[in-house]
Amino acid sequence: STFEELNLSPELLKGLYVEMKFEKPSKIQAISLPMIVTPPYLDLIAQAHNGSGKTTCFTLGMLSRVDPKLQAPQALCICPTRELAIQNLEVLNKMGKHTGITSQCVVPMDSRDQTTINKRPPITAQVVIGTPGTVKKWMSFKKLGVSYVKILVFDEADQMLAQDGFRDDSMRMMKAIKRISSHCQVLLFSATFNESVKNFVPEIVKGNHNQLF
Ligand code: AMP
Repeated sequence: STFEELNLSPELLKGLYVEMKFEKPSKIQAISLPMIVTPPYLDLIAQAHNGSGKTTCFTLGMLSRVDPKLQAPQALCICPTRELAIQNLEVLNKMGKHTGITSQCVVPMDSRDQTTINKRPPITAQVVIGTPGTVKKWMSFKKLGVSYVKILVFDEADQMLAQDGFRDDSMRMMKAIKRISSHCQVLLFSATFNESVKNFVPEIVKGNHNQLF
């Protein structure tokens, strides 16, 4: 299959071909992207190893669902580590270079800056990528509004849910988002499906969803 068949904008195709230098979708991309970017935007639970091309799946999902005219967070990606969040942001900025979509990382700050969240301006970036504890903190300080968030991604969910604090933060955050933005699409990618991931899935996915193993 080709990227042209996936209903992506010309700006995103340019990002894929010119910036990323990709030629055609990988297997997981060809299978999952139609589900991710096409109404009714069903939730997706996917088992995906590093190297399968999963980052492109959710990055294209986020970039294609954001309304570039609305300056507010619309896509949120939660990662188990600061490094992964930064890496995912770099991929997003490169792939989305021609879209004009704005992004921001929300990861643990330098310890001297911790107290200054309340003095910071609210986030207006359209895509936010971060770690559970810090994202939850920005939400609780009302610096990260989630009213317009319509796609929520959990990357490396098995890594994330293995940590008690992160599991609780992820659960609370997701419930808060679903309460405010009830049609929010959830994508969960995990290399393994252990008990903690299996227990988390029914909490995030209500009703119809796609499952890819
Ligand atoms: P990931 O599994 O998302 O970490 O991606 C693994 C590697 O495959 C990364 O270096 C990507 O840049 C690369 N990649 C992802 N999708 C494609 C594609 N469709 N064509 C060529 N390389 C790709």
